[in-house]
Amino acid sequence: MTYLQKILDETKLKNPNELEFQQAVEEILTSIEPVIEKNQAYSDLKVIERLVEPERQIIFRVPWIDRNGQFQINRGFRIQHSSAIGPYKGGLRFHPTVNLSIIKFLAFEQTFKNALTGLSIGGAKGGSDFDPKGKTDVEIMSFCQNFMTELYRHIGQFVDIPAGDMGVGEREIGFLYGQYKRISNTFEAGTLTGKGLSYGGSLARKEATGFGLLYFVNEMLKSHNHSIQGKTVVISGSGNVAMYACKKASELGAKVIAMSDSGGYVYDKDGIDFTAIHAIKEIQRERISKYLEYHPHAEYFQGKRIWDLKCDIALPCAMQNDIDLSAATTLISNGCIAVGEGANMPTTNEAIKLFIENNVLLAPAKAANAGGVATSALEMAQNSSRLSWSFEKVDSTLKEIMTNIFEESSKAASEYGHPGNYVMGANIAGFIRVANAMTAFGAV
Ligand code: NDP
Repeated sequence: MTYLQKILDETKLKNPNELEFQQAVEEILTSIEPVIEKNQAYSDLKVIERLVEPERQIIFRVPWIDRNGQFQINRGFRIQHSSAIGPYKGGLRFHPTVNLSIIKFLAFEQTFKNALTGLSIGGAKGGSDFDPKGKTDVEIMSFCQNFMTELYRHIGQFVDIPAGDMGVGEREIGFLYGQYKRISNTFEAGTLTGKGLSYGGSLARKEATGFGLLYFVNEMLKSHNHSIQGKTVVISGSGNVAMYACKKASELGAKVIAMSDSGGYVYDKDGIDFTAIHAIKEIQRERISKYLEYHPHAEYFQGKRIWDLKCDIALPCAMQNDIDLSAATTLISNGCIAVGEGANMPTTNEAIKLFIENNVLLAPAKAANAGGVATSALEMAQNSSRLSWSFEKVDSTLKEIMTNIFEESSKAASEYGHPGNYVMGANIAGFIRVANAMTAFGAV
């Protein structure tokens, strides 16, 4: 049995019910095999054994009161995975499927993603099994305030900086920051990112993950002599990441023909209208089926799989494990040339393998969706200097960061014998940066 297989087996035994965490660890360990072979120091200093154990895991009770005056109890999480290269940083997810395994896999991946940005940020993730769907603003506020009443003692601008993720957007960050400010008695803007513009937020932060995804995909296509212009694109999800991926894809000359939510998908042969999606999802907080009220010629498919549509580029921007082996097989047989992961771990390990074997270009989440956290770090830089940058400055810095991430991933893939395999390249480049810092620190 190889050294890495032994670590993987032990991790599975130690975390038996955490399938998503096991999957994320397996993906990284498979990729870094050539690095470990070349660098004995990493195994001598047990860098990998340390990385599969988060630095700190916090689980807490969140009691709150609903619109009927009834007590409700949810579970809150914060996994502070690694502070090797900077303070812990990563989003908060509010979704009924949230559990320890999901937050641990997200925190684990965040560490390597943050390293890839080249910025000084460690990895963390948090959230709750609270379901924001259908709740009133007052209920959301009550939940956020009670969540922060526990979380505040674990975070801070030099300690751990949360942000948004699924179910946590600008409204929730506002409630969370308001409570943080009140109970800590400080205006420490750098403690949360994704803030509103009037109290320390950054222009282009809400666009950043979707825009960054397209900047990465565009670089990847160009380096393989493809052009994004005229390509058909299918996007799963219609939340923050999906929406701005749609906007940038259209701006770059591609045609987005379908988007979804957890109920089904809309297909618009003339190209999805960003303004309608934005109005339905960000302003009205409605279902995507409402798109037909704006564009009656479009079609809605309830409960159907969006990946059965023929497209050149697939952009999964919703949930983990959205593209399984069967969806990948269909995409390949329909002529898909590239997949860009806007969501975290949206492709199963079997589907990743199939895409790579079939020369489908795969932009992995750790690299391709790093634009959100990178721009959060730019928000922190603005907060520290008490200055606000223009939209153009943030956007052009984001573009530069995404191009660098693509080049680093590409270089690492070639250096370790797998040119064009950006999954391996991103995993290797992120790992080396974290591992070198850990090596320098000794046994911590
Ligand atoms: P949002 O909550 O804004 O949107 C999530 C979207 O996914 C909604 O449209 C939701 O639909 C949809 N969705 C959820 N479950 C399913 C499903 N089973 N099938 C189809 N659609 C589904 O989240 P974000 O856009 O912020 O996050 C999306 C992904 O991107 C996540 O994986 C997140 O971790 C990742 N990400 C987000 C970043 C950010 O900056 N926000 C940064 C990096 C990664 P419904 O409303 O019906 O639930």
